[in-house]
Amino acid sequence: MTRPTLGRARWWVAAALALVGVFVLGATAVRFAPPGSTVAVWWPAAGLAVSFLLATARGARAWLFVAGVLVSSAAANAYGGRPPLVALCFGVANAAEVAVVYGLLTRGGRRPALASMEDLWNLLAATLAGALVFGLFAGLTVSIGVGGPFLATASAVTASHAAAVLVFAPLGIAVGTRRTRRPGFEDLVQWVVVVGLTTSVFNPGQALPLAFLPIPVLVWGALRLGLRTVAIQLLVVGILAVTLTSVGGGPFAAAARVGGLRPETVGALTQAFLVTAAVTALSLAVASTQRRAALADLRSEVELSGVVLDTAASAIIVVDRAGAIARLNATAARLLGAAEAELVGRPAAEVFPVDDHERVSAQMAGIGEGAVPLHEEQDWRVTGLGVRHIVWTNAYLTDDTGHRTHLVKTGVDVTDERAARTFVEAVLEAATATAIIGTDLDGVITLFNRGAETVLGWRASEVVSRKDWSLLHDPAEIDRRAEELGVEPGFDVLVHRVRGGAATETRDWTYVRKDGTRRTVSLTMSGIRDEGGQLTGYLGVAEDVTRRRQVEVTLQVALDREREAVEELTQLDRTKSDFVSAVSHELRTPLASVLGYTEMLEDGAAGALTDRQLELVARVDRNGRRLLSLIEDLLLNSRIEAGRLELAPRRCDLSDVVASAWTSVETVTAQRDLVREVEVSPRPLWIEGDPAALERMVTNLLSNAVKFTPDGGRVALAAHPDDRRPDTVRLVVSDSGMGIPESDHERVFARFFRSSAANERAIQGSGLGLSIVRAIAEGHGGSVSVASAPDEGSTFTVCLPVAGSAGPPTQAATRTYRDHRDDS
Ligand code: ADP
Repeated sequence: MTRPTLGRARWWVAAALALVGVFVLGATAVRFAPPGSTVAVWWPAAGLAVSFLLATARGARAWLFVAGVLVSSAAANAYGGRPPLVALCFGVANAAEVAVVYGLLTRGGRRPALASMEDLWNLLAATLAGALVFGLFAGLTVSIGVGGPFLATASAVTASHAAAVLVFAPLGIAVGTRRTRRPGFEDLVQWVVVVGLTTSVFNPGQALPLAFLPIPVLVWGALRLGLRTVAIQLLVVGILAVTLTSVGGGPFAAAARVGGLRPETVGALTQAFLVTAAVTALSLAVASTQRRAALADLRSEVELSGVVLDTAASAIIVVDRAGAIARLNATAARLLGAAEAELVGRPAAEVFPVDDHERVSAQMAGIGEGAVPLHEEQDWRVTGLGVRHIVWTNAYLTDDTGHRTHLVKTGVDVTDERAARTFVEAVLEAATATAIIGTDLDGVITLFNRGAETVLGWRASEVVSRKDWSLLHDPAEIDRRAEELGVEPGFDVLVHRVRGGAATETRDWTYVRKDGTRRTVSLTMSGIRDEGGQLTGYLGVAEDVTRRRQVEVTLQVALDREREAVEELTQLDRTKSDFVSAVSHELRTPLASVLGYTEMLEDGAAGALTDRQLELVARVDRNGRRLLSLIEDLLLNSRIEAGRLELAPRRCDLSDVVASAWTSVETVTAQRDLVREVEVSPRPLWIEGDPAALERMVTNLLSNAVKFTPDGGRVALAAHPDDRRPDTVRLVVSDSGMGIPESDHERVFARFFRSSAANERAIQGSGLGLSIVRAIAEGHGGSVSVASAPDEGSTFTVCLPVAGSAGPPTQAATRTYRDHRDDS
């Protein structure tokens, strides 16, 4: 209920008008007071003042208005011809009355209202109190001031004021109430009847005792038209009745004329009529307003419960005492597989899709006896959905006498949840080698799967909800970790990162089993969160890695051992290389001396040698040279191994190197029956190289060609610019010998590799030659490759970069040597 608030200026104007009204009504009432009476029969001014206060005023303004009432009423009394002191006293009495009524109706900050019977009761009580206060004041004023009777005066004015306030105040209160309906034709008719009837009943020409007649019409308005209309009509009827009676109209005035009643008695009768009309109409108006509000509440409640029922995810079925369905919601209808309308009225036992029909029938027959348990679970065969597992909560409705009249079944379909739970449980149980342990936020164990039982030796029933995490861990390890993290030892040590926001945290921990033995586990911690993302607990997934860690340690030890062994072997190898190198070095000097002396012998330094002697010396010389070559290879190899292949490159002509190598090999090949071809570019082949190393390279290739080519074969050596790559010179050594199988092409360049064929045929060699060739070629920024097939000869090609200033390659004009020698 809202109260219209007037702006400051408007309120002042309205208050002033109301006070003028109080003056006018007061003065009129005094004037119309019956002759010989000390008081007026009706005092509408009091009603107006109270009504205005109730409608508009608050706080200080109200009390200002009360003061205004004092002045205005006193003035009206004085104007009406009363002595000034008496008029002042009446003014005070009026103000006191208004203050009491207003004060009582707004006490404790409440707003004046007429919404309940209690409000009406308050209004009646406040009106009576105000009237009594006025009666007391007025009685005293009259008895002391003008020597009139106290009791008669007091009772008369109490009644007249009570009636006036009761007729006016409802309007002041109703101004703030909301209009609940639009006025219609009925309003018009009722208004006409009220006004017409009241006017005719109190008409001066009317003497019959028909004062009760307007009351039923007021009741009509009260029941159908609302509080506002009743309040206004009460005022109108009051004014009409009082005014017309005062001019001698209506039953009361007529009774006075016939029975010689005193004017005060006529006044009292009129007041009685007004009070009766007001109480009757107001109480009915309040009651019917209340009833309407209650009905509206009820309706919306019913609607709400209907909506709740129909939108509920649970199935709700109301079954009456006879076992028939009285009501059900949409969810229930879906489970029963039929429309709601079809199901209502049918026996529940008949439509419930259950297997144990007999039991349900017995239950439904015994609703009155409470045969249905308060909780039960049932499997329902739902069309289209299969078997659904439903948990029912049952409740009975009872009548006033406590007899069960209905059964209300509320069912929740838990099939899916059960399935999901079964699945999760199955997963947890299936992990028999993995410990899955759940805890709450404080570390109390909430879940302990089969794997946890295996790993830790505890049974789930011994630890879940009973023990906490600390049971499973090594306290010393927790203390160490706490120190690392700089936190207090406790559960936080395990979930430090997860609590800090990380999704998971994995590390090795030591679990202590029930029997006290220890296991190393790799534990992954993660947080369990509710739908709102709030952390509610932790989940630890631990795998026993004791064996794995042991194996890892063993492996590490083995690896360390192996590394040591390799280091030892490397050291040994180095020693061996050093030894070979030293021995080779030591051998070279005496061998050179041996070769020098054989040369001297051949040259006849010791006198002329016989042919036989010469032949033997030549053999010594040949084998000596082979030995020297082997020693050179060994020395070179040692240097290559040690990464010390020291080359002394300078600008040189590859043709010279080739010629020199050819000459040195010639002595070895002298006794062989081979076609030897040399093909060298007529122009110098400038390269940046170490001539001695290059000569060694060519010598090795040439002696291989000779070695692996049987007599009658061909050995060729060519050196010329590369046709396709101007920055490269090519050195090609080819033969028509035994060749090399494809599978050995790469291996021949490895150190100490000798083909099985070479071994089988006892062809001498160390397996070092080609590895030295490759090292020297690559040491010059070049490369070596082989093209060969068994029994089809071999071709070794060395590519070397030309010296930086070398000019464009020239077309090779070739020099060819053909040479046949007998090695007899
Ligand atoms: P060695 O000649 O001392 O055995 P090399 O490193 O020079 O060692 O050669 C390794 C192997 O490559 C030889 O044992 C032989 O089997 C093969 N090989 C090298 N040159 C030829 C060739 N011209 N013809 C056939 N096989 C060859």
